[in-house]
This record gives sequence, C-alpha cells and structure tokens, in this order.
Amino acid sequence: MVYADNAATTALDESAYEAMRPYLLSEYSNASQPYSFARQPKKAIQEARETIASCIGALPEEIYFTSGGTESDNWAIKASAFSDPDKRAMITSAFEHHAVLNSCAAIERLGYPVAYLWPTSDGTITSENLEGCISDNTRLVSIMFANNEIGSIQPVKDLCKVTHSHGALFHTDAVQAVGHIRIDVRELEIDLLSASAHKFNGPKGIGFLYVRNGVDFSPYMDGGSQEKGKRAGTENVAAIVAMAVALKRNCEEIETTARRLVGYEDIVIGELEGLDFIRNGSKEHLPGFLSLSFRGKDGEAILHRMDLQGICISTGAACDSVHTQLSHVLKSIRLSEEYALGTVRITLGRNNTEEDAMLIGKTLRKVIGGKVK
Ligand code: PLP
Repeated sequence: MVYADNAATTALDESAYEAMRPYLLSEYSNASQPYSFARQPKKAIQEARETIASCIGALPEEIYFTSGGTESDNWAIKASAFSDPDKRAMITSAFEHHAVLNSCAAIERLGYPVAYLWPTSDGTITSENLEGCISDNTRLVSIMFANNEIGSIQPVKDLCKVTHSHGALFHTDAVQAVGHIRIDVRELEIDLLSASAHKFNGPKGIGFLYVRNGVDFSPYMDGGSQEKGKRAGTENVAAIVAMAVALKRNCEEIETTARRLVGYEDIVIGELEGLDFIRNGSKEHLPGFLSLSFRGKDGEAILHRMDLQGICISTGAACDSVHTQLSHVLKSIRLSEEYALGTVRITLGRNNTEEDAMLIGKTLRKVIGGKVK
C-alpha cells in the first residue's frame, strides 16, 4: 500500500508511540492529584507544553491542550465572539475547514455578523481583500494558515498587520501547517492558532490552541481547574506527551523533509506530462501537496481505481468524502466544473519515498487514460 493522503491524517511517529506507553500502563495517575504518584504525569505535561511552545515560538503558558483542530477552532471563534460586547463583527474566508465555517455559522445564528472573504483563483486571501472588509467593529479575523484541499499558504504576516491596525484579533487554523512549515507566532504576530497532532505524526484526538498572553478569552469547557480553568477535563497525558515528541521530531527535520517532498511533487507532475489538467493552489504551498484537476474526468472514479492499485489518495477534504457535490473550496477558487469534477488530492508525507512518487505518477497516468511514458 502507498499512503498518499497525509492531509487527512499521518502515521503515528514510533518514538511518539513509545513515549505514550508509560502514561497508559504505569504512570496512569490523574495529573491533578496532590500525591507523589501524580508528580511524573504533571511534570510530563509541563515539559510537553514547553516543547510545543518552543516549536512555534510561543511561551509555555500560551499553550492550551484541546481534543484537536475542531475544538481549537470552535474555542477561538466562540470565545472571541463572546468576549467583547462592543466589537461583534467577524471576518473569515469562504474556503476554511468546516470546523471554522460551522463555528462561524453558530455565532451568526446568535446575531454576530460574519463576513466571508473570497480567495483569488490560486487560493490566496490577500491583505487588500481584508482591508476592504475590515472595520473598527471587527473583533476577530480567522484565516487558515494553509488550505486543506489545495495546500495554498496564506500571507499571514500581512493579514495580521491589517487586522491589528483595526484593533482586531487574528486567529489562524494552522492544522495543515504546524509541523510542516516553520511557524513563529511572535514573528508573525498571531494572536490565536489552532493545531492538531494527528496531522504531524502525533496521535488522534489531541491538539492545542495557542493564545497570546494578554488576549482576553473565555473558557470553552466548564468544569474543573485544568488548563488554568480555561479548558476543564482530566488531561490526556499520554497523548499530550506523544504530541510534543512528534512535533519536536517533525520540526527538527522540517526543511529537509520539505525539500524531499517538493522533489517528489516534481516526479509525480513529470509523469503526467501532456495530460489535460490544472494544478490548483499558489506557488506558496505545503510541501508534498498536489491538488490536480483532470478535465472531463471523475475524481471519485480516479480515487477508486487508484485504490484498486493499492494507492490511497483523496478527492477533497477527508471529512467531505461522502459528498459527491463540488467542494466549497473548489467553488471558492471558481474552478470550472469540467475540471473541478476531476479533482484529486495527493498529499505526500514524511514516510513517502521517491519510488512511491514514481508509482503514484505512473499509476495516475494509466488511470487517467494517458499513454504510459
Ligand atoms: N482544520 C483543518 C484545516 C483541517 O484540515 C482539519 C482536519 O482535517 C481540521 C481543522 C480538524 O482537525 P481535527 O481532525 O483535529 O478535529
């Protein structure tokens, strides 16, 4: 099997798995308890917080553990909305993940105005676009760091500047970007950032929200006093520890992995020479990310024929794969239907090899019906 759907999820890093074991088997105490048996889990959580913070240029106290990207997005958007009765307007983009779009829809139902920016045809939200929509009533701007269907990376630094010049907060859903491209929240001046461990070779069901010191925001889960009373619930120590190990490992190798994956992209594209297709997304895209639209083809059929050859790819976002209608992302970049229906997403990851890239390209060419090179 060749796994090329790393934007949907990634394989668990083995050292992350090993790091989890003691907290599942022997060090199983509740980290909130005062006795000495709880000392090690407590220490492990603090160390994980420090490691994660250092990977994104944050301070340890700015990291809040959550159950993943969806929860982090919900928290950032809803807490920002509820924290300032005088500034109620929100701005996001039309091609966000549904964790953001549906959180925005929820606050819209409560009477908060939300504006949706449309990306350019290469999948970019520009600062000019934001400037034309933002006002001094805007509380939050939420724009993803990199799109999960087409991989385009957003000009986050410029967007933060525009946001702050109007006294608003900037949140980014960086679920696809953390652990894959360098991110320094201080340098970029990000206020809130969502991340999810299973996208960077950590376990599923764990993630974090970065909240810059000084940002006033309300708790998401009400209950006990975990996470400084902001996110109640007994900590998932094993998953937190594994997330930190996985992120550190990915960040240590981030440039070499990226270079390797960009080389693999070229191999796949090289095998498709002469076929009628569009590569979606901007020049600034996630390494190893290929969103390809084949004219007059059926993306769903391509996926199944690739599957029969032992290759896992996707047609759009994984969470959307039950729907056959055009994805909201492809609609937002105004891709014509004759190409959009034939779209597949190939996302290469750390575990892929040059041979995988060659096999994917050759198999795709055969499946599309082009002559074998
Ligand atoms: N945001 C983006 C951009 C994603 O790609 C995903 C997952 O596909 C999520 C949020 C949701 O993250 P999680 O699966 O951790 O809830």
